[in-house]
Amino acid sequence: MANARILIADDDASILQTMSWVLKEHGYDVASAREGSRVLALLEERTPDLVLLDVMFPDADGYQILERIKSDPRWRDIPVLMVSSLPPEEAAVRTLGLGAADFVKKPFRVKELLARIQAQLRMRTILRSANDALHNVEKELERVREEAENRRKLVDILHDVTNDLSSDEIYHLLARRVARALDLTHCSVILARAGERPRVVATAFEQAVEGTLELELDRYPEIRAALETGRPVLVEDVRTSPLYAEVRERWKRDGTKVSIQSIIALPFALEPTQAGVFFLRRSINEPPLARDDVEFADTVVKAAVAAVQRAQVLEMTIADNRRLEQLALTDPLTKVLNRRALTDRLAAEMGRVKRYESTVSLLLIDLDHFKRVNDNYGHLVGDDVLMEVAGLLQNAVRAVDFVARYGGEEFVIALPETGTEGATAFAERLREVIEAHPFSRGSAGTLHLTASIGVASFPAPGWETVEDFLAGADQALYRAKAEGRNRVRGVEGAPAPE
Ligand code: GH3
Ligand code: MG
Ligand code: MG
Repeated sequence: MANARILIADDDASILQTMSWVLKEHGYDVASAREGSRVLALLEERTPDLVLLDVMFPDADGYQILERIKSDPRWRDIPVLMVSSLPPEEAAVRTLGLGAADFVKKPFRVKELLARIQAQLRMRTILRSANDALHNVEKELERVREEAENRRKLVDILHDVTNDLSSDEIYHLLARRVARALDLTHCSVILARAGERPRVVATAFEQAVEGTLELELDRYPEIRAALETGRPVLVEDVRTSPLYAEVRERWKRDGTKVSIQSIIALPFALEPTQAGVFFLRRSINEPPLARDDVEFADTVVKAAVAAVQRAQVLEMTIADNRRLEQLALTDPLTKVLNRRALTDRLAAEMGRVKRYESTVSLLLIDLDHFKRVNDNYGHLVGDDVLMEVAGLLQNAVRAVDFVARYGGEEFVIALPETGTEGATAFAERLREVIEAHPFSRGSAGTLHLTASIGVASFPAPGWETVEDFLAGADQALYRAKAEGRNRVRGVEGAPAPE
């Protein structure tokens, strides 16, 4: 093998000289040492392809040198041919045992030595390519392992993206997980509706300005490109990428210092009118994002988008249901509970009262001579007054109380954990509030109204159902009307509040 480097170490000057000459004649690059102690230093200087090593030196032991070579990972694979005048039975067995490639007895024939050297160098070449192949296999294995690791991370991410998260939560989660999986300092999710400016809806690790932050696409050419083409965009270096040429001009004009170096913009489509971009960035002092990262993040995002879509459908259904439920429970004019909702809530409250031996009180409020309001000012003013009354009642109650429209101009307020005395006092305050309130007649000024209020408290002897309770309140109201209106009365026979 021409140009291979061979190191010869022999204390016999004539052998050294002859060998060097012969090997050089055959095209080898030769280094030589007469002292055993120099062998290692020469190896350090430049690693040869083969060593011819004498067994005995005056200043060193060839066996020991051989051992040193074979124990150093840098030199372990160099073939060492031991040369000695010792009887081969003894020296050969020992040196081969220590890892020598071959043993050559002195005096040797040049032809034979050359043949042995060539054989060893060929072996070495074969060994090298085998090693390279092994190295490649190891690298491939490492790559596959990394891929498996990435997939595991992906599974982790998607595992977290469960059905009961809202789409907003999913965006936040994805931003954080993608950032962690790819070791990013910057990761955000941007949503773009047709005809609107894209908005940042989630960020991980960046200074978050979510929801409100609208993006100017002029400053983010990769986001624009991703949205326009629907394909991932990789900018390995914003300082050289042609995509950033214009933006760089602007940075220069404005004196903007930029710390970001590499960017990935990954587009995804949610519905026909809405698309988004995953926006991944690394700073100048971090390893730049590469194709592998694009692939990985793209896989994650594609899988996640399905989860987001599921979540959005679910959210819409829930919101619709809530709206319908709300609609079914409220009075359309006054927005307080309707009669059905009142009956349900009251039944539940009465059940609680029975279980915990507490009390609940009812006020049945009827506006006095309300017919006159309609007659004098018209039905529309009447409607407005009813709305205003409902507002007054809602403002007056505690969070645990509830207000309902019982009929035309009759309202009910339920006061949990409140006895007759408290309820009566509250009713009296309410009566005063209504009496004092100037109700609007639109541009025509104001009008005044009074109300009669019947108070009933549960439990009471003989009352079981919601109807019993309401009938009791109605009877009290009748008394208030009968005794002259604009007053509060309790149920006849019920213990009067002190
Ligand atoms: P009082 O209770 O003091 O005996 O007299 P009143 O005039 O309030 O009693 P009544 O029950 O006779 O009349 C209730 C009136 O309330 C009849 C109806 O015109 C009016 N009313 C009922 N519901 C509505 C409504 O939704 N809008 C309007 N504008 N008026 C309503
Ligand atoms: Mg009435
Ligand atoms: Mg009335």
